[in-house]
Amino acid sequence: MRSWSVLITDGLEESGQAILRAACEVEDRKGISAEELAQVIGKYDAIIVRSRTKVTAEVLAQATQLKVIGRAGVGVDNIDLAAASARQITVVNAPQSTTIAVAEHTIAMMIALARNLTQADSSMKNGQWLKSQLMGSELYGKTFGLIGVGNIGTQVALRAAAFGMTVLGYDPYLNDEQIRQRGAEPVTLNDLFAKSDYISVHVPLSPETRNMLDGQAFSAMKRGVRIICTARGGVIDETALLQAIESAQVAGAALDVFAVEPPGLTALVAHPRVIATPHIAAQTAEAQARAAVDIAEEILAALAGKPLRWKVV
Ligand code: NAD
Repeated sequence: MRSWSVLITDGLEESGQAILRAACEVEDRKGISAEELAQVIGKYDAIIVRSRTKVTAEVLAQATQLKVIGRAGVGVDNIDLAAASARQITVVNAPQSTTIAVAEHTIAMMIALARNLTQADSSMKNGQWLKSQLMGSELYGKTFGLIGVGNIGTQVALRAAAFGMTVLGYDPYLNDEQIRQRGAEPVTLNDLFAKSDYISVHVPLSPETRNMLDGQAFSAMKRGVRIICTARGGVIDETALLQAIESAQVAGAALDVFAVEPPGLTALVAHPRVIATPHIAAQTAEAQARAAVDIAEEILAALAGKPLRWKVV
């Protein structure tokens, strides 16, 4: 009997690859182009991606023997779920593997915003000593607004509370009790906008959440609010955010994700009151090892027709 063949397109930590190799032929084609992917996908039973590879309907049209798509992480907005489902291709992810890494990055960005850490460091590297110009503010006593109180939102809430912040949460898919159990005080989106000193977004990208933070949303916020986004580019209207920063309605923003990645040196990225990181929130050794093992085990279970822990479609 021939063994299963698995294609990895965005890299996979070695511990996950080892699990796959025990039962499958594994090809690691990190960085493969969209054109090449469409040409070769027909040979594989399974494909494992992260966020770079776009598994489109056009790619899936060539995937004649594909049985399962694995996302080594959480967000599946780069996979055409309807097209996969129509072809009876299972999609699985590793939704809990990167939760802590993203929560910690969110907090790192909040502290960096509050204490001007990136400006302080770059000024020192320019031989400057800008002590009085770099007045910071404390997190203690401030209000933190969470949009999306899922796995990551819950871990962020716990950490924000540890700084003595009041944590508000908006999530229309959870009831008030569930939001309270996850460490946030349930509020409407308008209340969250009106009361929060920091707003952090933890929702999936969907037609409903696309441009959720637009010009109207920024105008409804408290003047001087700081925005953090480690969720997905596209959830924030970047043009509206830049305008809100320039008018000082928004005091600063920390962004790990962008509508187009990499964004290049846009006016938003270059702005002194913006902290930008290249989609690294989940990029810790621990999270990547966890994601690799989780997705490898889930792929093998799917190929063997066993029960799945994290079936998306
Ligand atoms: P999750 O599914 O556990 O939580 C998402 C929450 O958002 C859910 O509770 C859901 O009810 C809520 N939600 C959906 N639509 C909403 C809306 N319109 N308004 C408010 N809340 C809404 O997912 P998670 O593990 O917490 O991850 C959240 C997102 O973070 C992922 O979808 C992914 O896009 C992103 N992410 C980014 C990175 C990174 O590297 N930067 C890594 C992992 C995850």
